[in-house]
Amino acid sequence: MARFEYHLFPYLSDNYGVLIHDPDSGATAAVDCGEAGALLGALEQKGWKLTELWITHHHPDHTDGLMEVKQATGCLVRGPELKSKPIAGLDETYWDGGSFTFAGERIGVIATPGHTTDMINFHLAGEATVFTGDTLFTLGCGRIFEGDPAMMWQSLQKLMALPAETVVYSSHEYTLANAKFALSVDPENATLKARAGKFEAMRAEGRPTVPSTMAEELATNPFLRASDPAIRVHLGMEAADDGAVFAEIRRRKDHF
Ligand code: ZN
Ligand code: FE
Repeated sequence: MARFEYHLFPYLSDNYGVLIHDPDSGATAAVDCGEAGALLGALEQKGWKLTELWITHHHPDHTDGLMEVKQATGCLVRGPELKSKPIAGLDETYWDGGSFTFAGERIGVIATPGHTTDMINFHLAGEATVFTGDTLFTLGCGRIFEGDPAMMWQSLQKLMALPAETVVYSSHEYTLANAKFALSVDPENATLKARAGKFEAMRAEGRPTVPSTMAEELATNPFLRASDPAIRVHLGMEAADDGAVFAEIRRRKDHF
């Protein structure tokens, strides 16, 4: 049973922020802060006081509002160890296998480099929830800017090993474009077709397609399905290893 309340809010053109709130203690965390006004507005709307900010990676759409929010709220800021570009304002830093406690709940840190080399994800095992930043999206994965396909594939495999019921909060609404691409490499997947149709309707109503679940992503997200026989046949890569199939799917998406 989830103890925490989760509040998703949009910012910039296609980003999502999330507030995590413990109703018992009042402790409230946010994942990333690309725009101070949006985060402070969400806090005001909920009547919650920010105690912690958890940063996934250094990109501006995840960090630009950090200092302003830190000054406005006095929150503790947690983020990745220095692996690529420094992030100003971090109080505590983590890497793979690290953890901390939030409102009595263990928060595990999973390093998922690839999109950037400093990417970390936050896993709330007791809540069956993970925050995947720009590593894993609904029906997609992050573009590889700083790492390489082998690094990204290894990172995604860590997320694939989480329990199937895990709720996946990612940082962007890219789902309709992701669905179009997914259908191009996995056209016979009936579960994917049904899901893509559902997302069309949700977006037409302005509803977010985040969060997702690991079970749904494993069944429909092509970037997690390198071992799928139908995808391998479609790509003409029946004998290739999973990492090579993943790299080809990522390459195709970059040129889609
Ligand atoms: Zn990013
Ligand atoms: Fe981003």
